[in-house]
Amino acid sequence: MTSPRLLSAERVSLRYSGAARPVFAEVDLDVGAGEVVTILGPSGAGKSSLLRVLGGLQPSTSGSVTIRGTPMHGAHPRVAFAFQSPGLLPWLTLERNVAFGLDFKRQPRLERSELAARVDAAITEVGLSHARHLRPTALSGGMAQRAALARCLARQPEALLLDEPFGALDEVTRGEMQDLLLKVVADFGTAVVLVTHDIDEALLLSDRIVLLGGSPAAPIRDWRIALSHPRHDLVAELGAIRVDILSAMRGLRSRSREPDYVI
Ligand code: ADP
Ligand code: MG
Repeated sequence: MTSPRLLSAERVSLRYSGAARPVFAEVDLDVGAGEVVTILGPSGAGKSSLLRVLGGLQPSTSGSVTIRGTPMHGAHPRVAFAFQSPGLLPWLTLERNVAFGLDFKRQPRLERSELAARVDAAITEVGLSHARHLRPTALSGGMAQRAALARCLARQPEALLLDEPFGALDEVTRGEMQDLLLKVVADFGTAVVLVTHDIDEALLLSDRIVLLGGSPAAPIRDWRIALSHPRHDLVAELGAIRVDILSAMRGLRSRSREPDYVI
């Protein structure tokens, strides 16, 4: 069950300084607790920019982003980010990488024992207890990405913002990470905004898929996917949605070739 509006964008627009036109304009997006919303769109559409605005890493030019109804000003301690590159610090063990930043100013103050317990729980959740004392060079790509997810989880995030997080992984490892993400959502009711250009990944994971496109970009279409997990065997149901998404993406591409096309 999802609850409405954990993380909410209302009419947000972003124009980078010096740019001729906004990257995106008047975007509304609501994500509920326990909901996975995927943003799909062509390269350069503004997906990463929108995600940074949702996470308070990039101020919008206009509009507002709220978490549980409270306006976000800058990064929020309960909103965590993960990117394609795990971004682990090479000189720290996995355990210390997961703990890294938990005692920073923006984070709520934690007792040492609470901090250790959180790190421990996060490492256990992603199945890396056996590797906690290893340094990043000793981790496989999949393990490093698990460690990055554990670092997010140690913050006990209410919202998880993921920018093509599994794009660099082989297919089997990617499948394992996708399952792990769904487990995290089921265990903690985390709201997830996932940016990917992989339609199949979007179909397997999402409660809702939003297609971002145009110039300036805006949500063009969305698809609600009310199918239970795991979805690997739901070939016919997912196939039909896949065809629809692909044709909407092709339509976007042909429209964007018109020189003065503006939404
Ligand atoms: P996507 O993630 O969909 O590929 P991005 O959000 O990375 O798209 O980029 C959208 C547009 O915004 C691109 O034209 C890109 O060049 C521009 N852009 C992205 N980041 C910045 C930045 N920090 N400053 C100026 N322009 C940027
Ligand atoms: Mg991007």
